[in-house]
Amino acid sequence: MQLKIYNSLTSEKEIFKPILEGNVGMYVCGPTVYSNVHLGNVRTFLSFDFIYRSLTHLGYKVRYVRNITDAGHLTDDGDVNNDRFVKQTRLEKLEPMEIVQKYTVDFHKVLDMFNLLPPNIEPTATGHIVEQIELTQKLIEKGFAYESNGSVYFDVLEYNRRGLNYGELSKRNIEELFANTRDLDGQGEKKNPPDFALWKKASPAHIMRWNSPWGEGFPGWHLECTAMSTKYLGETFDIHGGGMDLKFPHHECEIAQGKACNDIAPVNYWMHANMLTMNSQRMSKSTGNYILPMQLMTGENDFFEKPFHPSIVRFCFLQAHYRSVLDISNDAMLASEKGFIRLMEAVKVLNSITPNDEKQSDFNLEEWKNKAYDALNDDFNSPVLIAQLFEAVKYIFALNDAKETISTKDLEDLKATLHALIFDVLGLQAIEENNNEKLDQTLQVLIELRNQARKSKNFDLSDQIRDKLLAEGIELKDGRDGTTYVLN
Ligand code: AMP
Ligand code: ZN
Repeated sequence: MQLKIYNSLTSEKEIFKPILEGNVGMYVCGPTVYSNVHLGNVRTFLSFDFIYRSLTHLGYKVRYVRNITDAGHLTDDGDVNNDRFVKQTRLEKLEPMEIVQKYTVDFHKVLDMFNLLPPNIEPTATGHIVEQIELTQKLIEKGFAYESNGSVYFDVLEYNRRGLNYGELSKRNIEELFANTRDLDGQGEKKNPPDFALWKKASPAHIMRWNSPWGEGFPGWHLECTAMSTKYLGETFDIHGGGMDLKFPHHECEIAQGKACNDIAPVNYWMHANMLTMNSQRMSKSTGNYILPMQLMTGENDFFEKPFHPSIVRFCFLQAHYRSVLDISNDAMLASEKGFIRLMEAVKVLNSITPNDEKQSDFNLEEWKNKAYDALNDDFNSPVLIAQLFEAVKYIFALNDAKETISTKDLEDLKATLHALIFDVLGLQAIEENNNEKLDQTLQVLIELRNQARKSKNFDLSDQIRDKLLAEGIELKDGRDGTTYVLN
């Protein structure tokens, strides 16, 4: 089985060939930490967590780098994110780095809740200003960038004049870009509208600012990712990921910067995760069409009829392929909850199955495993993988009803494969039962043991159980309908 990955650059599913056999370098654009991540952001990070887990499970040694965007950067509409930091600092009366810290901590907490593994390296943009200045200098030296009034811009026309094809990822041509780009962030400083900032001069009101050969300023957003990805993964690396909305201009500019700097394409496989929608519209803070993960967990929202556990949300997300749009709704969550409970029930039931080496089963375990792994190798097709898991679930319940059989060897194999796919690859977690429920179950076991001791006239033991529980504040009360307990 060969792993195939859909490459956004070629718009084709390609056989995955890593640069260094058995190793994968993967970079994913991280969050901008000036406010809480919404559930849409979580979907993208979760998609890449699943991809990271899958690659690892398939035997690759992965170096997974996901950055934290904590410096001011220019967004596609010309808005200066730094201003959002400034606004937020005023609103919350905090230092910029306090804002960064607050929302970085929140980001980690949220991803932890959804059982995302941490990346191997999590660089911050502010920690790589030196590298960004160096890259800007190199681009000026090579004639791909120019300084203008304390800012530095990438010269898109010059890039194309040298036959380097700006727009190859987003499939836009330069005429179109000329027609459609407004010089919002350029303030008349750019040579041409499609040029983008590598370094931006800081206005007196700017809080986040650094010294540079061009005066005080802050780096361009696209350059941050080029600096951090190439520093830790090399001039060319295997996989670059992010949400679909980052294709243009962010990733297009990363390609241009990489090629212009190092004369080589920076990335072999571009992967883009599709959007989470709500009410059929993209989840986004700016339109107000969003829900925070905590609001879903606590039920404090007007959209879902009840709270949902993060494991259910994770399962729901993975029931859609990472390249498909997913519309989150109350019904979708309820259906996922049902499916998740059945899947976990099957895992439990499997532990109590007794193998039978005499009878041949109709279920072909090898064939089933191949289908499950084919799904994983087919551009990380989680919905098809989950459908295969439910084939196994059907079989497990048939085993439980004594309608099917399984050999000792197959039982071990099925248990190990299911565990690996459900817990390691999909990253699902069994929902911890309520502690009270657990306590109740334990006490029922003790009451039963005490009854048995009394029946066999072992009053010493039955009294010991009662007294020891009493010493722990649990009083047993024998009545006509049996024994109950009171917690004191
Ligand atoms: P940001 O912090 O805005 O840079 O976003 C972090 C990540 O979330 C980026 O990879 C975005 O593409 C992604 N993202 C933003 N909105 C959505 C959405 N509605 N669904 C899925 N991913 C999203
Ligand atoms: Zn990025």
